[in-house]
Amino acid sequence: MGSIFISETLVMMFIQVLPPLLSWQENLLDATLLSCMVFPATYLLAFRPLKTQILNYQEAEDYLRIAAIAFEAHEGIMITDADVNILKVNSAFTHITGYSNNEIIGKNPRILASSRHNADFYVAMWESVNSTGTWDGEIWNKRKNGDIYPEHLTITAVKNANNIVTNYVGTMSDITMSPSAAEEIHHLAFYDPLTELPNRLLLRDRLKSAVASGHRSGRKGALLFIDMDDFKTLNDTLGHDMGDLLLQQVAERLTACVRESDTVARLGGDEFVVMLEDLSEKVSDAAIQTENIGNKILDSLSQPYRLAVHDYRCTPSIGASLINDHEQSIEELMKQADIAMYQAKASGRNALCFFDPQMQVCIAARVALEADLRLALTENQFMLYYQPQVYHNRQIIGAEVLIRWHHPQRGFVSPVDFIPLAEETGMILPIGLWVLETACAQIKSWESSEHTRHLLLAVNVSARQFHQTDFVEQVRMVLHRCAINPNRLKLELTESLVLDDINDTILKMNALREIGVCFSMDDFGTGYSSLSSLKKLPLNQLKIDQSFVRDLTIDPDDAVIVQTIISMARNLGIGVIAEGVETETQRAFLELHGCPLYQGYLFSKPVPIEQFEQLIQPN
Ligand code: C2E
Ligand code: MG
Ligand code: MG
Repeated sequence: MGSIFISETLVMMFIQVLPPLLSWQENLLDATLLSCMVFPATYLLAFRPLKTQILNYQEAEDYLRIAAIAFEAHEGIMITDADVNILKVNSAFTHITGYSNNEIIGKNPRILASSRHNADFYVAMWESVNSTGTWDGEIWNKRKNGDIYPEHLTITAVKNANNIVTNYVGTMSDITMSPSAAEEIHHLAFYDPLTELPNRLLLRDRLKSAVASGHRSGRKGALLFIDMDDFKTLNDTLGHDMGDLLLQQVAERLTACVRESDTVARLGGDEFVVMLEDLSEKVSDAAIQTENIGNKILDSLSQPYRLAVHDYRCTPSIGASLINDHEQSIEELMKQADIAMYQAKASGRNALCFFDPQMQVCIAARVALEADLRLALTENQFMLYYQPQVYHNRQIIGAEVLIRWHHPQRGFVSPVDFIPLAEETGMILPIGLWVLETACAQIKSWESSEHTRHLLLAVNVSARQFHQTDFVEQVRMVLHRCAINPNRLKLELTESLVLDDINDTILKMNALREIGVCFSMDDFGTGYSSLSSLKKLPLNQLKIDQSFVRDLTIDPDDAVIVQTIISMARNLGIGVIAEGVETETQRAFLELHGCPLYQGYLFSKPVPIEQFEQLIQPN
């Protein structure tokens, strides 16, 4: 404090002795003096001895040197005359603006002006300089290379003893941020330091663009609010450090549950938000996708945690809301998910709740269907129906077995409605095995009669079933148990199943072909099999999808597709069958173009075994 006081005294004294010296200084020091005005510290250093009036040339030279060093400071300095023509700039100025001393001398600083400010801005700036002697502020200027950049600028008017402005001094510092500093500031502003997850601010930002892009694409999104149950107890019993560890592990698990394009954010405390984008366009499908991910999160976060030396278990409560309507405000969306989360807590924790009442109904219906499906096998609610496959003379060569579910309350449930759910939940595995066993048992029972022992049964195999590692073994076991001729069994695979993992498919198909099982490619033409992949597959038959057969006689494109499939099969040396044949015209067309086998309502709908056996009775 003391030294500052002395310095101020010195300045006062200096100001008093300055006028007589000024003309001398002006002659000798020009910019140096001015730089001292800009840097009061230099001022003091350079002129401190003036107090004692011992100014000789040696000392003057020393002061000049000091002042000259000060002039070459980090800040850019520009000195103009009273008419604002540039007299001198320092090297920091050159560094910032790109203009060297020689290039800029004599020019007006206007040369640096960017178009970011209007005339009023400059008028106000100069009014301030002229009335108060100074202006201080941020300004956008233009470098020699044309770049516009922000700088902090101070303009000081320098006056002589008669109070006439002799010079202006501008000092400037470039306040363009370095990329790394900008990055750090961005990170601090938008990320949670504990978990490194986006914070509330960034989430809001992303939510805003998700709403907009959802509106454009029609695709739905979802918000999941996640709150850890009893987090406070953990903090109270094991301490905040353990609480922090838990939050970090929760963050990692959440991130692992979603796609990279989704957002996992931490709002604070033990509150996390997951934002899903690019879900289905259909609300009910988007709800199911959200539910699946919600359940995955529920499962992952309920696994035991290791917090330093402690084993710890806890569960989350999750609330979900759908991003569906672009007119919903961000606040509304967040509120909905929050409310749903409290519903989850109220329902006994470790649960997932949807906000949308309509969605909640959808999910509830599916959950009920799933529960019923689990009972269907043990309660013997499934049946197999048989749909004849016939030769062109209407001789029945076999049947496709199609599953039917007769539910005591629901009545008949279409496989179209429950097979996908069975696939998703894994229940297709026991169901598929049941179908296979029932079909093989039927083949066995037909062996005893000469009217039926030639019949072939086609069984639909779903992707999940086929891709089980022991699928081949399962089929072998069933064939062995039923002791049937494997030639009587045909497995129907779809193109998507085959293409899913073509190498695995080829291995399994070959293994089964070796023991005599046949293969048909179901719904052929609806997928994307290439000729080269078809050639690799040991197929016995292509089954023309019913969608092409349906419009065969009205849509020339379908007619061409059907003909192409038939000749493709012929070229591959394999059989072909058409499904969904409903009219004689369709059948005739197919026969004319070389398709000898048909399945469809023209011959029979899928029927229970008794009715099917009546169809094959010799009349
Ligand atoms: P898919 O294998 O393509 O079966 C053919 C479907 O077309 C059957 O429907 C059949 O009833 C129907 N259909 C047959 N002829 C005609 C016709 O002339 N006109 C019309 N409009 N439709 C005809 P379904 O029985 O409802 O089965 C639907 C799908 O469910 C099947 O398609 C199959 O993908 C699946 N599915 C059925 N049973 C099983 C099964 O046991 N296991 C597996 N994994 N999937 C099955
Ligand atoms: Mg089929
Ligand atoms: Mg089909």
